[in-house]
Amino acid sequence: MNAMVKAQGVHKSYGAVQVLKGIDLEVAPREVFCLIGPSGSGKSTFLRCINHLEKINAGRLYVDGQLVGYRQKGDKLYELKDSEVAQNRRDIGMVFQRFNLFPHMTALANIMEAPIQVKGETKAVARERALKLLDRVGLADKAGNYPAQLSGGQQQRVAIARALAMEPKLMLFDEPTSALDPELVGDVLDVMRGLAEDGMTMIVVTHEMGFAREVGDSVVFMDQGVVVESGHPRDVLTNPQHDRTKSFLSKVL
Ligand code: ADP
Ligand code: MG
Repeated sequence: MNAMVKAQGVHKSYGAVQVLKGIDLEVAPREVFCLIGPSGSGKSTFLRCINHLEKINAGRLYVDGQLVGYRQKGDKLYELKDSEVAQNRRDIGMVFQRFNLFPHMTALANIMEAPIQVKGETKAVARERALKLLDRVGLADKAGNYPAQLSGGQQQRVAIARALAMEPKLMLFDEPTSALDPELVGDVLDVMRGLAEDGMTMIVVTHEMGFAREVGDSVVFMDQGVVVESGHPRDVLTNPQHDRTKSFLSKVL
């Protein structure tokens, strides 16, 4: 079976600052892949590389068997055109710590927007799917609410529905619950758990170790731009082998 995401020696620098120093990993289709590690270790940068928001400096990065950002001919690489990048990005959904909903649009309109604008879907089709997605994230009764009329947790669930509206084959979550009041975290994690049960391939950067242990198929611990340790959540979280992993876990658990 082909990997949904495959990283081979991925390097990323900003000027002289090396952020990713040779990341190797594979995410299988339908896998829930949790990425943990201290602040500044390069987790967001790695997600941004997968999602075409950053270009890697060395190595190879594939999504669903396709090179990210480049086309390979022989042993030469050619940068993809912006239109080709845009096409590939459609297949990847991303959810950020901050929900970034369009403030002047209702929850329903936020979810309908991309399918109409990007895919040229009809309003009727987009609306029908958006209503189903609102129901799926437990917000069927909030279709007409504007973001300011929703709690942080509800906004984040709309953001997840908005990403799903493009029918992505891969979902990236970058600390989706970190900005939420503690009592709102559970509802968002429940939506993510449901997605996992439905077989969505997900990379989740999170400090929610309970989620990683219960829902994750694998956990990768990153520090200072390298993968320090990876494996089944049971092993990595309860029986870490490396001092850096132990030290990190002692602070977050
Ligand atoms: P994490 O998500 O694990 O907290 P990040 O990927 O956000 O880590 O950042 C990793 C490192 O890269 C940090 O030292 C950060 O300052 C640096 N960095 C991230 N984005 C940029 C940028 N656009 N320009 C320069 N440095 C950056
Ligand atoms: Mg980050």
